[in-house]
Amino acid sequence: MIFRKETYAHALARGARRLKVSPTAQLDARVLLSEASGLDRAQLIAADREAVPEAVLTRYAELLRRRREGEPVAYITGRQEFYGRPFAVNPSVLIPRPESEMLVEAALAAHPQRVLDLGTGSGCLLLSALSELPRAEGVGTDVSREALSTAERNRTALRLDGRARFELLSFADTPLSMGTELFDVILANPPYIAEGDEQAAGAARFEPHSALFSGEDGLEAHREVAQVIARLLHPSGSAFIEIGYDQGESAEAIYKEALPGRSVLTKKDHAGYPRMVA
Ligand code: GLN
Repeated sequence: MIFRKETYAHALARGARRLKVSPTAQLDARVLLSEASGLDRAQLIAADREAVPEAVLTRYAELLRRRREGEPVAYITGRQEFYGRPFAVNPSVLIPRPESEMLVEAALAAHPQRVLDLGTGSGCLLLSALSELPRAEGVGTDVSREALSTAERNRTALRLDGRARFELLSFADTPLSMGTELFDVILANPPYIAEGDEQAAGAARFEPHSALFSGEDGLEAHREVAQVIARLLHPSGSAFIEIGYDQGESAEAIYKEALPGRSVLTKKDHAGYPRMVA
């Protein structure tokens, strides 16, 4: 009997069809075949008409199965790009979102020496900012030990061990623990979804609950972050906080009340939704 081996081109097309529930089926299939084969994008194109080895097909089938069940590609590969750099991710950290790059841009424009990142997760905000600011240093906090060890891994990969420190702290415990240290820039992408918001839960069911949900109104973390800013932001410093698309007014009111005398503005993202309080 003669077997016709499956080519890379065929495996890609077949994978994309299997993933047709995903809006990024083609891309997902390519990333997963790349992961299964160890070939990068250019090597995959070059191998287009070659037969895929049996062991690669087996691994690929398993990755396609996980993706079909809704697991994010970033958790399957263990990596997500953010602000032009690769970050290690796993289910203990939120997957960095492109919308959050807006906070990094705002931080860079403020030219800080000292940066605080509240709820650092993978460390993506702090580490991206420090990578672009060769003389700055910073602190990232999180309540999850697993998240902090992921952030530490990313710190080492980006060669920032000497300039970034991570601490296991809740928002409420952060001011006391920092003593008299003040920061030029405070960043946070806090959890901001209301408990029981089923629609949001569905999309993020593989991600850590505590990274996403924040009390019945989704504003609990904003109230705590506002208190940290009141205590730890240098008088001439700036804070940039990510908010939900429907929190333009509610979050702005919280920060205004906690920070009398400071200017508080809501900024929209590229899609035109409120995305950040500055
Ligand atoms: N700071 C991390 C990020 O922006 C984690 C945020 C979170 O877990 N809510 O991705």
